[in-house]
Amino acid sequence: MKRVLVTGGAGFIGSQLCEKLLNDGHEVACLDNFFSGKKQKVVHLMDNPYFELIRHDVTHPYYIEVDEIYNLACPASPVHYQYNPIKTIKTSVMGAINMLGLAKRVKAKILQASTSEVYGDPTVHPQTEDYWGNVNPIGIRSCYDEGKRCAESLFVNYRLQNDVRIKIIRIFNTYGPKMEPDDGRVVSNFIMQALKGDDITIFGDGKQTRSFQYVTDLIEGMTRMMNTGDDCIGPINIGNPGEFTMLELASEILDITGSKSKIIHLPLPKDDPIQRQPDISQAREKLGGWEPKVPLREGLEKTIAYFDKLIREEKI
Ligand code: NAD
Ligand code: UDP
Repeated sequence: MKRVLVTGGAGFIGSQLCEKLLNDGHEVACLDNFFSGKKQKVVHLMDNPYFELIRHDVTHPYYIEVDEIYNLACPASPVHYQYNPIKTIKTSVMGAINMLGLAKRVKAKILQASTSEVYGDPTVHPQTEDYWGNVNPIGIRSCYDEGKRCAESLFVNYRLQNDVRIKIIRIFNTYGPKMEPDDGRVVSNFIMQALKGDDITIFGDGKQTRSFQYVTDLIEGMTRMMNTGDDCIGPINIGNPGEFTMLELASEILDITGSKSKIIHLPLPKDDPIQRQPDISQAREKLGGWEPKVPLREGLEKTIAYFDKLIREEKI
C-alpha cells in the first residue's frame, strides 16, 4: 500500500484517478480548491477509511507524508482557465514549485499532468515529444500553455538540481463521464446540445482536428508512467491517435443521440490550434505496450449515456 497525493483530485480526471488508486489498494489524499472540481465527484469515496479530502490551494505550500504525488491541479477547459488567467499561471507555476518542494522534502515520486497545449498550434504533425511547439506567449491561451511549459521546466530542473524523482506526461484531449456538462469543452458542449435539442455550436469552419482519448485509457497510461523506473522521466505523450474534425465529432454525436439539433457556426477563438494528433510510439515502448483501447464511438456512447442519465434524474 502506497500513500498517494492527488492534487486536482476533485476534477474530471483526478476523481477517477483517486478511485482507481483506492481500488488498487492505496491510501489516497485528494487535494483540491474546488475551482473547477466538485465534492460530488468524490463523495462516493468518503466512506473509505483510506480516502481523505483536503480543501487547499496549491499556490500555497502544503505538507503531508506521501510516497507519490500526481499533480493535476489546474483548470483544463479554455473557458475556465481564461476566467482568471493570472491565477491559472500561479496554479501551474507556484503549484509545481510547492509540490516539487514537497516531493523533495518527503522523497516522493511526482508526476506532472502536462498537456498537448505545450505544442501550441503545431507545425509538426503528428506531434512527437521532441517537438518544441508553436505557442503564442502573449495570446489568450498562453496563461495555460506557458504555465504548463514553465512547470515542465521546473520539473526537469528539480530533477537536475535536487534529484527529485519526476515524471511528465503530455495529455491529449480527454473526455468521458464526470466531465462538467457546462465546462465549455467541445465533447460536453456537443453532447449537451444534442441531448437538449439545442444548436450544435461549431467554432470556425469545423475543419480543425483533435484526437480524443477516453478517460480510462488515460488513467491506465498515467498510473503505468508513475510505476516506471527512475530513468523514465518523459515527457511522454498520452493520447488516442484517432484524429477527427469538429464536423465529424458533431455528426457522430448527432448520429448516436438521434438528435435533430442544427449545426451552427460561431467565430473561431483566437489561437485555436488547427490540428492535433499524438505520436504515441514512446508510450507504447516505455509503458509496457500501453495503447488506447476505447475507440471514439464507444467512448461517446458511454459519455452520452452518463449525461443522459443526469438529465433524466434532473441532476443537471
Ligand atoms: P478539471 O478542471 O476537471 O480538474 C482540475 C482540478 O484542479 C479541479 O478539481 C480544480 O478545482 C482543481 N484546481 C484548480 N486550481 C487549483 C488550485 N489552485 N489548487 C488546488 N486545486 C485546483 O480538469 P481535468 O480535465 O480533470 O484536468 C486535470 C489535469 O489534467 C489538469 O492539470 C489539466 O491541465 C490536465 N490535462 C487535461 C486534459 C483534458 O483533456 N482533460 C488535457 C491535457 C491536460
Ligand atoms: N469547439 C467548438 N465548439 C464548442 C467548443 C469547442 O467547435 O462548443 C472547438 C474549439 O474551437 C476547438 C475544439 O473544439 O477547436 C476543441 O476545443 P476544447 O475547448 O474542447 O479543447 P482545446 O481547444 O483546448 O483542445
